[in-house]
Amino acid sequence: MSSIDSTTSITRRLEGKVALITGGASGIGEATARLFVHHGAKVLIADIQDELGLSLCQEFSSQETISYVHCDVTSDTDVKNAVDTAISKYGKLDIMFNNAGIGGIAESGISTSSNENFKKVFDVNVFGAFLGAKHAARVMIPAKKGCIIFTSSGASVCAMEVASNAYAASKHAVVGLAKNLCVELGQYGIRVNCISPFGVATPLFLRNMTLGKKEAEELISSAGNLKGVVLEVEDIAEAALYFASEESKYVSGINLVVDGGYSLTNPTFA
Ligand code: NAD
Repeated sequence: MSSIDSTTSITRRLEGKVALITGGASGIGEATARLFVHHGAKVLIADIQDELGLSLCQEFSSQETISYVHCDVTSDTDVKNAVDTAISKYGKLDIMFNNAGIGGIAESGISTSSNENFKKVFDVNVFGAFLGAKHAARVMIPAKKGCIIFTSSGASVCAMEVASNAYAASKHAVVGLAKNLCVELGQYGIRVNCISPFGVATPLFLRNMTLGKKEAEELISSAGNLKGVVLEVEDIAEAALYFASEESKYVSGINLVVDGGYSLTNPTFA
């Protein structure tokens, strides 16, 4: 018999679970925090945008359900503290969503690329994801269970013109990290998966594309993808919910592209 209770699973798919979400103050992370709380999880948001993170928490009646910790994902001390805060506040950590990321600066070509930009993008997108996984594994391994999710990008499955080599390389690296950890951590009952979005109208996407929302919509709608519109943050949060919930209990090592088919119709992002 299935361990999924069909009467409750639709609305309370994360009942009793504890999640830590980096980059949870904005965009995809924020939408995921809201969805996870809706599904019964206790959520700790970790970000550097303290005002946004705290005001999101204030929307909810109880700090028992959602709280915020300042955490720069490039700092070992901050990430360790975030994981320890989840444990001290909520008693355990079931879900680690390594979602924080930056786009870096748009560049015109490798020969004039900024070394500093490359290092900075890798520091946040790759080293930050590594630290999140490392400290989550520290508490998940003894618990012999857990779920680690990374946000990679559509830039992990095809080339990208507008943003930067740094961003594309960093998001490929995140997928590599996830696959390796899937193999390493499977023996402890820890699942590791990636979500690769593209075209979600968040501050990061619009900055990356150096476009306004309307122009981004025009670009994507002309590209023949499934939706023909810019995706919503909730579309990505739903993928995170799937990986975090029991419905995916045998799914590990996946890079799930959520882009309405855009990366297939446009092998090079315009
Ligand atoms: P966003 O800018 O709304 O959110 C990113 C969050 O990460 C922000 O809250 C920001 O403060 C936080 N952050 C940045 N640097 C940090 C650091 N050093 N420590 C802690 N937090 C930090 O953008 P988003 O689109 O929601 O981005 C979330 C993830 O999705 C990123 O990893 C991004 O690369 C990825 N992504 C987004 C798209 C898209 O279309 N929006 C496409 C592909 C991948």
